Amino acid sequence: MARTCLITGGAQGIGASIAREFSLRGYNIVILDIDEEACQENKDYILQAGGNCVYYAIDIKDEQAIIGVMQELAESDVIIDVLINNAGISLQTPLDSPISTWDIVINTNLRGAYLLVKHGLARLKPGSSIINIASTRATMSEPDWHAYAAAKGGLVSLTHSLAISLGVKGIRVNAISPGWVDVSEWQKSSNRQSVKLRECDLMQHAVGRVGKPEDVAAACIFLSSDDAGFITGANLVIDGGMTVKMIYEK
Ligand code: NAD
Repeated sequence: MARTCLITGGAQGIGASIAREFSLRGYNIVILDIDEEACQENKDYILQAGGNCVYYAIDIKDEQAIIGVMQELAESDVIIDVLINNAGISLQTPLDSPISTWDIVINTNLRGAYLLVKHGLARLKPGSSIINIASTRATMSEPDWHAYAAAKGGLVSLTHSLAISLGVKGIRVNAISPGWVDVSEWQKSSNRQSVKLRECDLMQHAVGRVGKPEDVAAACIFLSSDDAGFITGANLVIDGGMTVKMIYEK
């Protein structure tokens, strides 16, 4: 029987790439994403490539909407083999910004992931795997990114906490912290703009380039595989060496 991978934010960007990579490996794809136009576009792409995909155009800040999706999946006897909490929003939250901005960032990046696990747990069976897409901003910052850093740091902590709670059920939980990933070519077609990267942008990385969504997708494939059966509670940094490179002004 085909396995199922549920991906939040799977319509565009890194999530769209993850959805396509899992589909290529024979998984049925379930996308939860707030952007219906983008959902339809990525679903069409997956179907044209021979895969199976359904989407639910919901806001993961909405607990009732998540409960509704899980009820529909239960009625169809869907078992989730891989749950990828990828949906995220990055907004600056300077100290004089309204608290509503803080709430949006925390509730999307952190609370949303918790709600997916809380209400999706009954659909996850022994041997399944949860992957939370955090960020290198969990451990390093520019000014004014307080809520995003806190949400991603929280997600890394939530990961080890869930790994301990769910280990007894045979479910592994890991985080991936991407660094700079260029998603410009992975937006819905009505919103796609290529980005011109500078030489200094590339050279900030030990590998001499920024990341691609496929770099993160490949790590998701590995972490969800039996080859990663002894890995849980981990945070895999995928940043081309950006966070270990010391930069001095010359
Ligand atoms: P993106 O904006 O290209 O895609 C995010 C997707 O999530 C979109 O399709 C969007 O519609 C969806 N989404 C946003 N809010 C939602 C909500 N409330 N409910 C449901 N869906 C929602 O972003 P991306 O760059 O692909 O980022 C994906 C994840 O990777 C995010 O968690 C982000 O924080 C993380 N990340 C990205 C980078 C990067 O450089 N791109 C680096 C580190 C971490």
